Amino acid sequence: MKVIKIGGGCLKDGPAAGKIIKLISKRGEGDVFVLSAFYGVTNILIAGIQKALENEDTIPSVISKLKSLHHTIIKSLIDDGNKRKQLSKDLSKIFQELERYYYGISFTREATPRMKDMIATYGERISAVILSKSLSSMGKQSCCLLPEDAGIITDGKFMDASAIMSKTSKNLTAALDSIITPQKIVFIPGFYGISESGDITTFGRGGSDYSAAVVAASINAEVLEIWKDTQGFMTADPDNIPHCKLIPKLTYEEAAELSYTGAGILHPRTVEPVKKAGIAIAIKNTYNPDAKGSLITKNAHTANKIIKSVSYTADIAVLKIYASGIGARFGILSQITENLTSSGINIRSVVTSQTCISLLLSRKDIEMGHQSIKKIRPRPFEKSSIVTDVALVSIVGEGLQNNRGVAAKCFTAVSDANVNIEMISFGTSTAALYFLIHEDKLDTTINVLHDIFFD
Ligand code: ASP
Ligand code: MG
Repeated sequence: MKVIKIGGGCLKDGPAAGKIIKLISKRGEGDVFVLSAFYGVTNILIAGIQKALENEDTIPSVISKLKSLHHTIIKSLIDDGNKRKQLSKDLSKIFQELERYYYGISFTREATPRMKDMIATYGERISAVILSKSLSSMGKQSCCLLPEDAGIITDGKFMDASAIMSKTSKNLTAALDSIITPQKIVFIPGFYGISESGDITTFGRGGSDYSAAVVAASINAEVLEIWKDTQGFMTADPDNIPHCKLIPKLTYEEAAELSYTGAGILHPRTVEPVKKAGIAIAIKNTYNPDAKGSLITKNAHTANKIIKSVSYTADIAVLKIYASGIGARFGILSQITENLTSSGINIRSVVTSQTCISLLLSRKDIEMGHQSIKKIRPRPFEKSSIVTDVALVSIVGEGLQNNRGVAAKCFTAVSDANVNIEMISFGTSTAALYFLIHEDKLDTTINVLHDIFFD
């Protein structure tokens, strides 16, 4: 049995969804599909929370926007007027529930993490019903299984939950055993699970990739396929390097590193569950479903090339904290990281020396992070500053750590191009080397690196 994840990028509108429905009906019998919401829906749902907090009168317009977006899609998916009416009836119950949650927020003037997570899941709840009913209307055997009914159990952390694999595996195997047949097409809404105390908890934005990996690992699927509107992992971002090439095979580590620096192909946490279970991930292009795409497995070494991709993110900034003898002082790093964590700020990476701790944060968090650590009393550091005009570049390839000359080749090329390297992190991952450069030099850097490693 395969587990197949379909992303919001493939569910942009009616015609796009229609194409997916055709693909599923041809290839998906006996498989399990984990879905994202239709494109843009989760954003509307989350924006609706703030609107409801501010003014109750905005709720009807949020609901009607969602209704009309979905009804346009349904119109192009289901021809039969009666079947369409039936589906609209089923959906109106779901919209009513959602509306009640918004009024609850508005009435109590409070959006708790529990409430926010519950509301955020409605996009997936709706897309799963629509796709499943569309296939049924074509005479296919199809059903929808909700994570709370299937027993996808989480640790209960709102907006950033993790699945408890042992329990989930037991529950899901039993739930699917009783419904799956060689003809059946099963849809599971992605993005969330349920905690042991019954709370709906999401896996964080973009988390339906992770959901699919959890489902695949739990039922020991033959493969996890990720259906996307792109070819797969590439040797660089096609926006920077139009002649970049597809990477046919990657290791789990390489895929995880590339997901982290922005390739946008997979949610960074997707690899975790399937790697443990030894299940391959296949990235498939819905525009060319017979193409090989990228395959992610344990061993994917290529004979003579170590570097598989040059990647980057500009969503990075550095929080520098100066203090003397950092390596000899107890607790300074934990004081700072605890402070940031309690302000809800994610630390993307840390590099330290004896006189300076450099924390890499998302750009949107840098100002708040800086203000937050300045409030620590007594102040454990002498000075602090931020750097925002940087970009993080990485070269990724399993084995770069223990093969002589790869780092030298990289840095020589960068320095020959007159680019100054502001910070390096090397040796912490077996598959990636990271460094910071001035943002203005990003294009030059990516180009010279792609040239020396791929041309
Ligand atoms: N719909 C959710 C989001 O937009 C989850 C996902 O699509 O992966 O974050
Ligand atoms: Mg996604």
